[in-house]
Amino acid sequence: MNQNEEFEATASRATTLSPNGGAPEKSAAVVEKSRGASYRMKALVKFAPGDGNVDVLDVEAPVCGPNQVKVEVGYCGLCGTDIHVLHDTFRNFPPVILGHEFSGTVVEIGKDVAGVKLGEKVACLGATAVTCGQCTYCKSGYFIFCTNRRGMGHGVNGAFTKYVLLRPDQLYRVPEDLPLEEAALSEPFAAAIQAVTELTNVRIGDAALVSGPGPMGLLCLKLLAAEGVKTIVAGAKGDDKRLEAALRFGAADVVNVGRQDLMEAVREHTDGRGVDVAFECAGHENSVRGCLEALRPMGRYTQVGICGREIQFPIDQIFYKQLQLTGSICYTAQTWERMMKIFAQGKVRLNDLISAKLPISEWRKAFDLCVNKEALKVLMYPE
Ligand SMILES: [Zn+2]
Ligand SMILES: [Zn+2]
Repeated sequence: MNQNEEFEATASRATTLSPNGGAPEKSAAVVEKSRGASYRMKALVKFAPGDGNVDVLDVEAPVCGPNQVKVEVGYCGLCGTDIHVLHDTFRNFPPVILGHEFSGTVVEIGKDVAGVKLGEKVACLGATAVTCGQCTYCKSGYFIFCTNRRGMGHGVNGAFTKYVLLRPDQLYRVPEDLPLEEAALSEPFAAAIQAVTELTNVRIGDAALVSGPGPMGLLCLKLLAAEGVKTIVAGAKGDDKRLEAALRFGAADVVNVGRQDLMEAVREHTDGRGVDVAFECAGHENSVRGCLEALRPMGRYTQVGICGREIQFPIDQIFYKQLQLTGSICYTAQTWERMMKIFAQGKVRLNDLISAKLPISEWRKAFDLCVNKEALKVLMYPE
């Protein structure tokens, strides 16, 4: 059995997991309909469990149900999660199309959908593809903690392909003059917006440390710089290009901790006091320690990066300096609404974060660019 046949054999399962937001058995009709559809599309698919098992396959295009909207993908950003799914170090449900950070154009609207127009440019909230809608978290907007949640790109079919199906509430209309490339950065941007503007007490005149100059760190930096917060960005070996970008994006200073002393830079920029806020965006033990050390007494620490393993750090620093600690994972629907206002104001632009745009067939090159830290953000587009 070749990969295509294997995908075919299990395609009905993939289709029942398509982003319809309902129980799988309810979408049997959708499966039947899609079998009759003739249109096929190329998609980057995790076709079996285990390390690897990802390739571009020919799959059936999804058929729009009465409560759904069909979106033609403009661009879909590659993210650390996709790399984890490739290596099977992030929960996934094969066969499943990868990709969850995307924008596109509305090309078909189900007959029972109101308030959506054909041709509209949209950013898509893929993380809510399946939620229960009933639990405390769903009801209060914190759907990210719903135990039944499955996001696009690993839980249900994602957007490294041409067409995706969404519920209307997953769509956010973007300003007409915002390129689809920039709108494709909505998902990570929303995560940065929650960390910086909603969960961390930070205001103009503060000094901040962003530790880890990956896409998340740089998005946090852009928001902090826009808010008038003096921001130092720290990186490590291999981060020089990203630190150069940080300077262009408004960092007051950058420090490569492999060569320079972070604390010296922090003292210099804060008259010896330490920073008011620190955003840990690297998910690395040394970076966590650096943030705790750089903070002034009563400073605020926000964990944005994922370490993926247990680490050692001096917890007494939290006590002695009476620090406030918080984590920030993802966003709420309210964050996305705030993001649309930020896009409309146009003060924070994201186009300079995009370092490469590649067709889905060049996915290996795209993954390599991210793994080798050669790129800031890599987008892929359908063929
Ligand atoms: Zn992501
Ligand atoms: Zn729920």
